[in-house]
Formats: sequence, structure tokens, C-alpha cells
Amino acid sequence: MKLTYLGTGAAEGIPSLFCQCDYCKRARAQGGRQIRSRSQLLVDGEISVDFPPDAFYHAARLSADLSAVKYLLVTHSHMDHFYAHDFILRGYKYAHDMTSPSLDIFGNAEVCEVFRECTRRELREDVGERIRLHEVKAFEPFCFGEYRATALAASHSSRDPFVYLLEKSGKKYLHLTDTGVLPEATFEYLSRVQGRIGAITLDCTFLFDRADFVRRHMGLEDNAYVLSRLKEYGLIDGDTRLVVTHFSHNSAPTPSRLRRAEREYGVIAAYDGMTLEF
Ligand SMILES: [Zn+2]
Ligand SMILES: [Zn+2]
Ligand SMILES: [Zn+2]
Repeated sequence: MKLTYLGTGAAEGIPSLFCQCDYCKRARAQGGRQIRSRSQLLVDGEISVDFPPDAFYHAARLSADLSAVKYLLVTHSHMDHFYAHDFILRGYKYAHDMTSPSLDIFGNAEVCEVFRECTRRELREDVGERIRLHEVKAFEPFCFGEYRATALAASHSSRDPFVYLLEKSGKKYLHLTDTGVLPEATFEYLSRVQGRIGAITLDCTFLFDRADFVRRHMGLEDNAYVLSRLKEYGLIDGDTRLVVTHFSHNSAPTPSRLRRAEREYGVIAAYDGMTLEF
């Protein structure tokens, strides 16, 4: 599987839209990898996990072909993960020669509701006909193309948030944003999964800041705890790629702090445009 990290920032992005803190001012001045857009990950170029307001920027600045996305897995309804207004542009005069004319969107009931709410006024019928919405439930695997996906319960501040386990030809990928330390029901489900996971993406909003008792996002210590549980179940080994992402300006993910995180926790700090194959 090939993972492309298009967006690696938290909801407010880096530099945060309206922020004038020292960290954001420095990121604005430095540009390059210091800029972090909102969460979006491509798998093999045909699956997108989440669809943020920065999808436009991902297509424009990172040369992503978003018309090739056939399947969209939505973790939850927060706007930085599901900006549904943009789907009115998927056809008609706005999009020609799309690589995949059809799109299947998978998400919880609230995600389906947000899609209807945001596209109600402007979605043309001929554009809407090519987009199929699928409501999925936690712990019930579903299949599409060559893939099998399972939504797992997350610990987050929206209704029924999900994280996803994705499988293709014996390979497994685990996507863990936005979530705090996983709920016990999800650990229990994962304890029964057979085989090793090739790569895991972890919510690291808080980086080195202690996030005890905040069950919405994680920092490195929470990541380490989650990974220790997965190791117990035999799901990860020394070759499993561990990627941290969803960084917030409040935790100042400077290059030196991220290098330190990589050294001390054995993780890879994602940046916008990073790719990884396993
Ligand atoms: Zn988020
Ligand atoms: Zn800031
Ligand atoms: Zn969220």
C-alpha cells in the first residue's frame, strides 16, 4: 500500500488561520514544511481518508489527482475532516475528464447528514448521481474494490467518531485520527485481529504535552501506550511503520522537537506531501 500524507495539521492548520502567536508567525515566515494543512491521506491514490477544506490546496500545490479518488472513508463530521461543500464541484462545468467518475463515501450517520446539509442548495442532480453515500457502523467490516475496511470506535468530541482498519491482499493499515487513547471496545476488537499491521498513523495533536484525561486527541505518551497494547496483541513488530500526524500550533512541532520525537519514540513525523510504502 502507498500512503500519501496530504495534510498533517490539526483543525486550525499551521500557521493557524487567525493566529499571531510566535510559533505561527515563524511558520508563516519560514514556509515550506512548516506549513501544515488539514488532515487528508491518500491510500494507493484511490482511497482518501477524510476530505478537508484544504483539498483544493492539496490538488493545486501537491499535484494530487483527487478525481482518481474512488472511495472516501470519513472518520468523523468535524469540518477539518469532512468539508462536504466542495462536492458540488465534482462534475458539470467544474470537472472534466475525471479519472474516476464515481465516488463512494463511507461514514457514520452524522457524516451522511452533514453531506446532505452542505450540498442541499448547490448540488446538481447529475453530479449527485455519481456520489454514493454509505452509512457504516462501528465493528462491521465492509468491502470495496480490492479492500476491506472496518470502522472502529474512536474517543473524540463528535458523534460516533471512527478510526479505520484497512486491509488489501494480506496487508493491514491502521488509521488513528482523531482520537484519544482508544476505547476498550476497540482494543478488544483489535485483540482478535490476526496478522501484523504494516503501518499505523497516530493522532499526535499534543506532541510532548501531557494529554492525560483528555480523551479527544493524543500526545506521544498516549501513542506509546496505544502501541504497547497493540504489541501485546502481536499486531506490530519492529518493521511496522509508525507515523505521527495531526499537529497543533499549540504544541509547537518545530523540526528539532519532531527529530527528538522520532529519536525517543521510534516514530516518523509526517509532513504535508510525505509518502510511505509498505
Ligand atoms: Zn482533526
Ligand atoms: Zn499559533
Ligand atoms: Zn475532530
